[in-house]
Formats: sequence, C-alpha cells, structure tokens
Amino acid sequence: MKHIVSKMKDVIFLIKPFWQEKGFMLASIFIYVFITPLNAVASVLFTQSVIDAVSEGKSFWDVLKIIMVFLLILISTIIIQNTFDNLYSEPKLVKINRNINKNIYNKILRTDYRYFDDPEFYNNFTWAINEYCTKANEARLLFLNICRSVSTIISMITLIATVGPLLILITMIQMALSIYFDMKRNKIILSKQEDVIPIDRKLGYVHRIFYQRQYAEDLRSTNLSEYLFGIFEEENKQKIHTIKKYAKSLLSLLYVQNGIGVFYNTLLLAYISFSFLVSNQIVGIGKFTGLITANSQLASSLYGFFGFISQANNLSLYAQKIHNFFNIQSSIEDFSGITDEHILPNINGSFDLELKNVCFSYSNSNFSLKNINLTISKGQKIAIVGKNGSGKTTLFKLILRLYDTDCGNIFVNNLPIQKYDIRFLRQKIGMAFQQTNLYAITVKDNVQLYRKFSDEKIMEILAKCKFEGDIHLNGYVTKEFDENGYIFSGGDMQKLGIARIMSDDFGLLLLDEPSSALDPLSEYELVNTLYDRANTTTTIIIAHRLSTIRHADCIYVMDEGQIIESGTHEDLIEQRGVYYDMFTKQAENYK
Ligand code: ADP
Repeated sequence: MKHIVSKMKDVIFLIKPFWQEKGFMLASIFIYVFITPLNAVASVLFTQSVIDAVSEGKSFWDVLKIIMVFLLILISTIIIQNTFDNLYSEPKLVKINRNINKNIYNKILRTDYRYFDDPEFYNNFTWAINEYCTKANEARLLFLNICRSVSTIISMITLIATVGPLLILITMIQMALSIYFDMKRNKIILSKQEDVIPIDRKLGYVHRIFYQRQYAEDLRSTNLSEYLFGIFEEENKQKIHTIKKYAKSLLSLLYVQNGIGVFYNTLLLAYISFSFLVSNQIVGIGKFTGLITANSQLASSLYGFFGFISQANNLSLYAQKIHNFFNIQSSIEDFSGITDEHILPNINGSFDLELKNVCFSYSNSNFSLKNINLTISKGQKIAIVGKNGSGKTTLFKLILRLYDTDCGNIFVNNLPIQKYDIRFLRQKIGMAFQQTNLYAITVKDNVQLYRKFSDEKIMEILAKCKFEGDIHLNGYVTKEFDENGYIFSGGDMQKLGIARIMSDDFGLLLLDEPSSALDPLSEYELVNTLYDRANTTTTIIIAHRLSTIRHADCIYVMDEGQIIESGTHEDLIEQRGVYYDMFTKQAENYK
C-alpha cells in the first residue's frame, strides 16, 4: 500500500504542471468521465437493441428510429471530443510544455557550475529535458483514463450483472495477470533505457559537432571526422549490443502476455455461449451479442484502471529521475536564501580584491590551487602569467564564484564573497576572453550582453574597438537562422567581446588574452583603449604575450596551481627567474 501511495505521489508530481491550467483539467475530466463512457454504453445498448428489434420482427421504421437515436448520441460525443482536442487541448498542451521547459531552463540557471563536471547530473538533466513533457502528458492521460475507466466499469458491471459474477471474475483474473507481466516488462524497458541514455548522449555529441557551424572547418580540414566516426561506430555497436541484451527477456514476456490474451478470449466466448446455449442464463441473441461487447469494454476499462499500477510504476521511475534533477541542491546559484543583508550598498566603484590563502581542487582531477595570496587595490591592474594548465582560468572561476574555495577565502571590498548576492556582484565584473562566444541573436544584442546602450553609443563603441566595415546593428549573427547573418572573423569576434565591456561601471575586469586574435596594429590600439579604461577599473589580465603586460602594477607567475613569483616587470626581470626566462625567450622571437 505504501508502495502504491509513493507511486501515486510521483504521478501527481508529474501532473503538477497541468494543474496550473485548472479550467483545462476540469474540462478534460468532464469529457473523460461523462462523454467518452457515454459512447461505450451507447455502443453496447445499440448492438443489443438493434439485434433484439430485428429478431422480434419489428418494422424497418422502428429499427431505423433506434439507429438514428444512437447515431445522434455517437455524433454528439464525437463532435464534443474532437472539438475539445483540436481547438482547446492542443494549444493548451503547447503552453504547458512551454512552462515545463522554462522551469528546466531556470533550474539549469540556478544549478551550481560544479555540477557541469558531473556525468550523473548530465544524465538526469537529459532525462528531464527529453522526457518531462512526454511523461507529464502521459501522467495526465493516465489520470484521465482512470476517471474514464471507473465511470465505464460502473456502467458495464451494471449491464453484465445479469449473467452473474463469474464473468467479471474471469476478466479480473486476466487483468491481474496482464498487469503483473506489464510491470515486469516496464522494469526491463527502463533498465534498457538507463543503459542507452549515456550512449545516446555521446551520439548526440557527435551529432552536434556535425551540425554546428563552428566545427565545420575542423571537420573538413582535420582528422576530427575520423575520431567522431570512431565514437559513432563504437556507440552504435554498444547500442545494438544493449538492445540485443534485453530483446530476449522482452520477447518472452510478450509471448506470455499474448498467450494469456488468447486463452482469456477463448474462455470468455465459451462461457457466454454456455450461458446462452446450455444453462439459459442469457435470453435473446441481442443480449448475447451485447454481453460480448460489454465484457470487452469492461476488460479494456479494467485494464485501464488496474494498468494504472503498472503505468504508475513506470512513470514513477521517470518521475524520480526528473525529481533528482529538480532536487539538486545548489549552494551558490540558489538565491532563495538571499536576504537584504546580502545586497550590499558599497558595491559601486572599483573593487578592492583579496585572495587569502585560497586553495581549491576539482572533484574529478588531480589539479589543485595551493595557498594563493593576491591583493589588488582599487583601480590596480595586475597580470597573471604561466604555463597552460597552471590554474589561471581556475582563479577567474573562483573570483566569479562559479566554485567556492576549499580553504581560505576571497574578499571583495574587505567582505567575504559569500556576503554578496552573487548576481549583483557578477553584473559588476566584465569579462573578455580569447574565445568570444557569439550567439544567434542580433549584433546589437551580442554587444549588449552586459549593458544596454543606445544605437549611437554602440556604433561609437564599435568604432573605438576598430570594428571596420558596414554593420547593421539589427542584422543577425551566424547563418543558422538567417541566410544574411554575419559570420565574423576571429579578430572581429574578439572586438565584439571587448565592445561588451566598454562601460565605465564595472568594478572589476577579467581579461583572458582578449586580443590574441587581433592584427598587431589593432591589438596595439585596442589594448591601449582597454587599459585606459582599466586604469580606473580594477583589472586582472591573463596574458601570454608578455609585452602587453609590462606596465602592470604587479605580475604574478603561476605554476602547477601556485604563485611562484610576483612583482613588477622590472622586479621580475631582476630576479632572473621563470618570468625572466619567458620574457627573454619571447623577446628573442622578435629580434
Ligand atoms: P590555465 O588557465 O592556466 O591554462 P586552468 O585553470 O584552465 O589552467 O586549468 C588548470 C587545471 O585544472 C588543468 O589541469 C585542467 O585540466 C584542470 N581543470 C580545469 N577545469 C576543470 C574541471 N572542470 N574539472 C576538472 N579539472 C579541470
């Protein structure tokens, strides 16, 4: 019983989005409880009355009158049902699906970044995004079918009661067996799906690479397609293997279920014929035929009703996965606990930033940041240099509070970063990266990712960023949805990325090689513009071209998650350490 109650709870969880449209649900219940069963009752009585009228020798006109009455009932129910489905139901379903997907997107936004490193999270996310709409609708239909089944069962039992309870008992036993085997089958189908989802995710990844424009060049000019075909073949092989693994048990259950079905139908017909021909419990050919129809209606309604258990069982397994996704606990991105206390007033202006004894490691890698200490005063410009993988970008992620530190802490204007409503804090941090993501929205909106500007201001910023050529702000980026969409060069993409942060009101700028794809002339001018701005805004720059950061207030050299040197350019050159080596090697290339 406890088991059934928990399944019921899961089904109710799945139907929840539909109850936001109460009128729609109530109208659906009315149709399923009154209109559809009326159709079933009418078809039983129709067969019975027409056959009885004919065998009793009634006139053609009398038979026609019966036919007309039933036809009218039938047509009315069909019209009501169809009008409801087409005019009302379909648009409502789109609206409800929209709400469901919006909830998923919002949940994603409120999920901590660390979960994106977790394949289990991705699996639950895939269940939610692929299945929530479908399963919610299945749960709704299940609920409505139960309502309909109860209504039909009551009407059919009333009609069959004349022949005695044995007929109902046989039908019940058959039902119980079918449901038992259905449950077994659903369990296997679910295990199969659990095995297939990670495979489908990999296949989806390959599909995405072939589909998205940004990979088109690599696909044509590198070995990428070969590797992808490798994954594609391997995963398809795995998928076929998985399907075969489950096929035998699924097939044997199907045979058993079909066998029960055939045995039941034979028994049923034999019993009704016996009651008609031998025991004379059934009188009249009309009643005989009517009973057969009524019993098959009863069987399918009982199946609908008891099948609820097996279907609920199946839906509950989906509900749990979706539940897991929605139940993910986020400590950073969940803003429900935010109070006024967190929205601190002294956030205007440039940041004072301090990293005190910070350490951090990813859950799934050996890399760790160790004892990082950095102090940056308002308006200072510091640079971080170091080999790939030394932890520079990880530091940026901690400053953005995409992750929390394992020990030590980050202080903004002398307050721990956790004291801030991170949404407001992030709005004050402008970022420009080597790899600028552009989106299939207008040029204007691509520039306005952080701040809204007037059209004139955007044109002015683009000119400042050395963006040359004719550009329409309302033109679309990428050709994915618009054949006239802009395709920008790597350099132009970086210029757009820099344009986004050309506003005076950032408290901190995080720049990760933002000008690496620019030609030397553009880079020189743009870096000057950017650093001019940076002169008033606290700025951290990750740089590989050391000539661009010579004038930084302090340069930190990182290696294997640690700061190994720090000082001004002149200090570090004098120290003749790692920075000195890096700088002199780069300088040699320019000789
Ligand atoms: P850098 O910016 O200096 O090139 P990163 O900070 O990007 O270095 O990376 C430092 C180390 O952390 C690398 O070894 C990288 O593989 C690892 N790393 C980065 N992101 C993750 C992650 N999400 N999960 C596990 N390891 C990561």
